[in-house]
Amino acid sequence: MKPVYLDYAATTPVDPRVLQEMLPFFTEHFGNAASTDHALGTFAREAVENARTEVASALGADPREIIWTSGATESNNLAIQGLAASPYYTPQRNHIVTVRTEHKSVLDPCQELQERGFEVTYLPVDHQGTLDLERLAGVITEKTLLVSVMHANNEIGILHPIQAIGRICKEKNVVFHTDATQSFGKEPIDVEDCGIDLLSLSGHKIYGPKGVGALYVRRKRPRVRCKALLHGGGHERGLRSGTLNVPGIVGLGKAARLAQRERSEDRERIRSLRDLLEREITSQLGGVTLNGDPEARLENILNLSFANIDASALMEHMPEIAVSASAACTSASMQPSYVLTALKDDEERIKGSIRFSLGRFTTQSEIKAAITHVVRSVTSLRSASR
Ligand code: PMP
Repeated sequence: MKPVYLDYAATTPVDPRVLQEMLPFFTEHFGNAASTDHALGTFAREAVENARTEVASALGADPREIIWTSGATESNNLAIQGLAASPYYTPQRNHIVTVRTEHKSVLDPCQELQERGFEVTYLPVDHQGTLDLERLAGVITEKTLLVSVMHANNEIGILHPIQAIGRICKEKNVVFHTDATQSFGKEPIDVEDCGIDLLSLSGHKIYGPKGVGALYVRRKRPRVRCKALLHGGGHERGLRSGTLNVPGIVGLGKAARLAQRERSEDRERIRSLRDLLEREITSQLGGVTLNGDPEARLENILNLSFANIDASALMEHMPEIAVSASAACTSASMQPSYVLTALKDDEERIKGSIRFSLGRFTTQSEIKAAITHVVRSVTSLRSASR
């Protein structure tokens, strides 16, 4: 039997409507979007440009500001390393400000730059994952090049106030990058209103395919100058060479359009299912605490700690539901979650934490089944350890 899938923050299934849009681009319309000497190429090019317009309009951006990538990992690397490599800013500006709870695809490029002589400030968060904005403003100096703060955290779902952060960055004249991988398509984002200079997003978190993403790069007021990391044919305004993944890009465009159109409906439904899951688990079992901020959070992520429970044992006990003990991207290392560690949760609490993440295809009967499995498994594991 297929498990109840509650791991949408790790990845989503491709929406059948997205797949339909993509399929002809594998066989019939297989042209290279750079081969504009013939109709097959121009057809592919047009499809790529339509998708670019979709993604741009979802962000209030100009289509020329969207650069296709292989996913948010690459977008984050291009934003951070590409900016740091630009002779326009460096070597005078060699300080980066980021947060301890960022995704590894932000933290690792920062660490790599640190090894090459950059100074990096990793801001702490409080026990709910909240960032102190006064502190953020306080660490920016005339050497600061970049502030990189994610919009929504992938483990606990907290939403950082990107508009206020953008304002601080504008006042201090530093570049603002946000990793919006988890929030794009769920939360409204306007790059102008929020003063965002660079923004990363990914297809497979919004019911699009894996292996495709985008980086928004501001073109004016001010123009942001990144240096390419991949060199070759000069595709994507010289910022990212390589033959474009046309079916993937078409899929991401369609997924962005669907998200724009269906966001508010999806949100209400998912929030009420999340509330049901949270309420029932918490009230039927004692010793359950929420990790993160109960207010400023994405509607689809619920991270709970179960007292006297080991999350991996719990997951083994309930194969009927697919959840995550920590971020899927780092779970290979079996280290306690660094995000929960940054919240100063004690080790016991971290060990007993599970992320439930819901999505467009989650149903009420799935949530009811999940409640039954969780309550039964936690009760049984607790009584066995007594
Ligand atoms: N940033 C965040 C916040 C994420 O959740 C993820 C995916 N786990 C990524 C970046 C990396 O995205 P991708 O899988 O597209 O490389």
